[in-house]
Amino acid sequence: MNIILLGPPGAGKGTQARRLVDERGMVQLSTGDMLRAAKSSGTEMGNRVAEVMARGDLVTDEIVIGLIEERLAGDTGGGVIFDGFPRTLAQADALEALLAKTGSAIDTAIEMEVDDEALVHRIVNRAKEAAAAGEPVRADDNAESLKVRLLAYYKQTSPLIGYYHAKGKLTSVDGLGEIDAVAQDIAAVLDGL
Ligand code: AMP
Repeated sequence: MNIILLGPPGAGKGTQARRLVDERGMVQLSTGDMLRAAKSSGTEMGNRVAEVMARGDLVTDEIVIGLIEERLAGDTGGGVIFDGFPRTLAQADALEALLAKTGSAIDTAIEMEVDDEALVHRIVNRAKEAAAAGEPVRADDNAESLKVRLLAYYKQTSPLIGYYHAKGKLTSVDGLGEIDAVAQDIAAVLDGL
């Protein structure tokens, strides 16, 4: 089973993806995590994308498609949760082509619906909690970058909602509830596939 978690920054995609890994043995492919790892390991690509990410803009399709292609070549036994990918129509087309090579496909894209005010609140809290716990604060978890990230979401990523809807592959859950409630809604979607 291959699913996409679709939603604006701060919608809770990462949190829900990690639960699905624990509860269903699925594999989480987060391009954001991969890019942050590249950044902290100081690879040439990591250095190149660091500034773009800190600003809140999207990195090039070529880079993220390359990362996903590499990971799809590995073990994806229990199915894949795509978290933060695809973010553009070009990425969505590339993903479809990559999966088709192995005779597989996306089962559903789950849109996590959250309003903008809640997002700002969540992201500011995420930064505060990390700082209080002595954990690293994401370079893009600040009000200025968040504005750019939201704009990138509405301009480049939100058209994917229509894209998957047209393919009959869109489901939506209310992303505003408690983590457990959202997890239950996602579980219901997956069990109904
Ligand atoms: P995330 O952890 O998913 O919020 O991603 C953090 C940042 O990494 C984004 O704001 C982008 O700069 C970059 N990024 C992650 N995934 C993608 C993607 N699929 N396409 C382009 N840029 C991405």
